Amino acid sequence: MNGMPPRESPLGPGDLEEAAAKLSDQRDRLRAEIATARETESALRRDCALDAADVGATTLAIEELHTRIDAATALLERTLAALTRIQDGTFGACATCGAPIARERLMAMPHAERCVACTERQSGP
Ligand SMILES: [Zn+2]
Repeated sequence: MNGMPPRESPLGPGDLEEAAAKLSDQRDRLRAEIATARETESALRRDCALDAADVGATTLAIEELHTRIDAATALLERTLAALTRIQDGTFGACATCGAPIARERLMAMPHAERCVACTERQSGP
């Protein structure tokens, strides 16, 4: 029993645990990042009211914070969805074509929903 793993099951149990650990870390990091960004925004808005001269720079900083919060929130949602897939046993299957996602891709980016081929098709022109 030392051959290749079956094609439809490219991940081993250890891989699932590793992916779950990575996703949990990522979830905690993103939640902290979002919370910090929101606190920073509140502080900026308070300062904004006090110092009208900096209002342009403050508005720009708040826009940048929103971009960061939006990106972190989107990744957090994908991270939570991947954790759910680990629990319900569908982790590692492409959401579009159902084919197994390459192990290297999943371990590098465990929140990936799609195989490389489907991702390239989707993000094409
Ligand atoms: Zn696919």
